[in-house]
Order: sequence, then C-alpha cells, then structure tokens
Amino acid sequence: MLVDTGLGAAPLRRNVPALRDRPVVCVTSHTHFDHIGMAVEFADKLVHPLEAPILADPANDATLFDHYAEGGRDAELFLQPPAGWDATAYRIAPAPATQTVEHADTVDPGDRRFTVLHTPGHSPGHIALWEEVTGTLIAQDVIYDGPLVTDCAGADMAAYRASMRLLSEIEPRIVHAGHFPSFGPTRFRQIIADFLDGGS
Ligand SMILES: [Zn+2]
Ligand SMILES: [Zn+2]
Repeated sequence: MLVDTGLGAAPLRRNVPALRDRPVVCVTSHTHFDHIGMAVEFADKLVHPLEAPILADPANDATLFDHYAEGGRDAELFLQPPAGWDATAYRIAPAPATQTVEHADTVDPGDRRFTVLHTPGHSPGHIALWEEVTGTLIAQDVIYDGPLVTDCAGADMAAYRASMRLLSEIEPRIVHAGHFPSFGPTRFRQIIADFLDGGS
C-alpha cells in the first residue's frame, strides 16, 4: 500500500525499489497537487468519493497548484527544483479512482488492515488510515508537526475541529504525516490540544 504519490516531478515506480514489480494499492488521502502527482502509475487507486472528481480531472486550479505556483513560489515546493522543472508546464495526469472509500471502510493490502477515517477540514474528502493493532496512524495533511493549512480553498474550520476531536479518540503510537517528520503520542496530543484551544 502506498499513500499519496507526491507532486509528480519524478516517476515513483522507476525510482522507488519497493514499488517495483509488485502489486501496489495506491490510496490518495486528498487531491491537493502535492499528493496525487503520480497516482496514474498505479492500477488500484482509492480515494474518498468527495475528491474522486478531482483525481479524475486534476486541473491545476482544483488541486491548488495554481495557488502555490503563483508568482514563481517554487521555493515553497522544492528545496531544490529538479533539472528542467517548469511550473508553467505542470500538468497532473488524470488518474480515475478504481474504488472509493468512506469512513470506517477497511483497506487491506494483503497482510495488514487499515481503517479509513474521514477527516475533512483541510480538504472535504481528506482521509487518514488507522491501524489499531500497531497503533499506526497515516495522517497526511489532517495533522502534522508543522503549520497546518486551515485556510486554503475547500478548507472548513468547523469540519477541521470535528476531525481533530475524532482523532483525539484514538491512541496512536506513531503518526506518519504528509509533511514534516513522523511523531509519537505526546506530540500528537499536544498538536490536537493546541488546535482545539487556539482555534488555529
Ligand atoms: Zn493538502
Ligand atoms: Zn500536502
């Protein structure tokens, strides 16, 4: 199982040995450009129904690329842009979902079972994946150890707060996020508390 595929500046199957020569279930947490760039490389594509239309037709305005690329803000996208990078030529290939998943559905890539948590707020159809038996939360953009984005197009603060309250009911041992390093339970509780207290 692969969760999210980066912004598509480089192919994944060719460059990531673990993705070569084996079936991969590709789960899309949400359809911002920096999470769906190479979804097209994978046969099995899962996404929440609210974001399935964008995965099928990932126009640069719908994926928020236009917003981030505006005014040549490539520095926000890359520590070092890859050779030949040209923001004006950026297009994500359509990658229609082969299956949609909703809250409480199970994703079973073969030897592990993850529960889908619908966690809107950052985006309407954002999902996280929770594996209770190992205490592993794959959180992507709903919670990470850095400035959370709560004001982009499609964001909804009331929904975001509800998602944080939902997350507060689980007890992960490790949280893997869409940005910034992974973190443990203490930081997880702190980030949720800060968010709900501060309304940020
Ligand atoms: Zn995002
Ligand atoms: Zn992101």
